[in-house]
Amino acid sequence: MTETIPHWLTKQADINPDGVAVEMDNGDVLTFNELKANSQRFARKLAKAGISNGMHVGILSTNNLRMITVIHALSYLEAVGVLLNTRLTTKEVNYQLQDAEVTHLLTASQLNEEEQAAFNVREVLSFSEVEAYEEKDVEVISELDLNATFTIIYTSGTTGFPKGVMHTYGNHWWSAIGSALNLGLDKQDKWLIPLPLFHVSGLSTLIKSVIYGMPIYLLEKFDEKIVHEAIMTKGISIVSVVTVMVQRLMNLLGENSYPKTLRCMLLGGGPAPKPLLEKAKDRQVPVFQSYGMTETASQIVTLSPKDALEKVGSAGKALFPAQLKIVEPDEMNVGEIQVKGPMVTKGYYNHKSANETSIKDGWLATGDLGYLDDEGFLYVVDRRKDLIISGGENIYPSEIESVLSAMEQVKEVGVTGKEDVRWGTVPVAFIVKSREVSIEEILAFAEKHLAKYKLPKEIHFVDALPRNAANKLVRNKLRN
Ligand code: ATP
Ligand code: MG
Repeated sequence: MTETIPHWLTKQADINPDGVAVEMDNGDVLTFNELKANSQRFARKLAKAGISNGMHVGILSTNNLRMITVIHALSYLEAVGVLLNTRLTTKEVNYQLQDAEVTHLLTASQLNEEEQAAFNVREVLSFSEVEAYEEKDVEVISELDLNATFTIIYTSGTTGFPKGVMHTYGNHWWSAIGSALNLGLDKQDKWLIPLPLFHVSGLSTLIKSVIYGMPIYLLEKFDEKIVHEAIMTKGISIVSVVTVMVQRLMNLLGENSYPKTLRCMLLGGGPAPKPLLEKAKDRQVPVFQSYGMTETASQIVTLSPKDALEKVGSAGKALFPAQLKIVEPDEMNVGEIQVKGPMVTKGYYNHKSANETSIKDGWLATGDLGYLDDEGFLYVVDRRKDLIISGGENIYPSEIESVLSAMEQVKEVGVTGKEDVRWGTVPVAFIVKSREVSIEEILAFAEKHLAKYKLPKEIHFVDALPRNAANKLVRNKLRN
């Protein structure tokens, strides 16, 4: 069955032509009408460059206005955008280009011949090269098929090879609707994106902007001073962040608080240590924990404003109309989190086996462990692959990390399991210090907060922790 809606950008440009669609921190602004016109023009140029309906087109760019135009332009041709992380190595990019069967790669910067030749695609074109093309006389599409694939974004590759998640227009549509039904819409809303658009959290906000008729305030890259300044003076009402951003912002904020205009700091992407959430609560910073993944087209579980203060540490409840269940819970009620809903991907591109094991009757097995409290609020515990079983007891590395991260002398901490003849596996901690501290001091602190069997059996001081291109801790690399 095809279900269509008018092209969202054309529609928004019709009802709200002069509304601001995007504001950059350098002062550049685009209205919905300008964004539509630019995107349609760029679409005709892309058509001239040989791109048409159904083709897979890579985008390699940091955040900028042109990238936004390119993303919408592809939708006007019904071509599929494959968004690539600019922090990947050429080899990693090539893996994704090949896996996603990309024919054309569009780059923000002009590459020389040698750099272009390094990518395994039919053609590499910079945004400027496309701009120089004439417009082809093609009809841009006027309706979106909600079942058609719009984008492919790879998972971060934290637990193995990254997988290409297909997002349909319908997935993006329902993600925007689900978020609005929880956070509400306000005519004054302005959503700050300090995260890359090639991640689903950034991309999904770009789509929300078009569906809601809401301006986004886009940063080329995260800078806590710029984010702080924007919240203080630019009327930002919502900002998407990951944990380290909250940490840095709290340091800048000191004893002050943000203006009332800021109604939501949407935190996602990974675990958040409880001490940090408590600190934010003390300063009356409206941090909303959320849980989601590339596969769910951004947040699928979010703590709503009315529960935010009561349920610190919880990711909340599944957004309307998503569902959530815990499968095969242990005696502590911890089991695998499964989710279902119209924002959940129909599958990974070209990965039949992963699709068969991960998605059954629309339920996505997330590979994450969690439990529900007696009021049905979700607490995410850890990834199933990282669970440490020590002498028959379950130990979750993130619990130990959360405790140790509360020490002032600890800048970053990663915990993993190490084989042990007596216990099977034991937890081992890797610490990046911010100030001098001894192993004894760390253990003395840990003993106050953790049961004996959860205490790290070894503590190693390191200069940095292994992280992937999404800046996530890769625990299986700690083991090496
Ligand atoms: P890969 O699937 O390739 O191993 P990844 O899972 O890190 O990589 P993403 O889709 O970027 O790829 O990240 C989603 C994951 O991030 C979730 O499955 C979960 O493990 C983690 N995560 C997201 N939100 C939270 C949260 N609130 N608390 C704890 N973990 C979270
Ligand atoms: Mg994953």
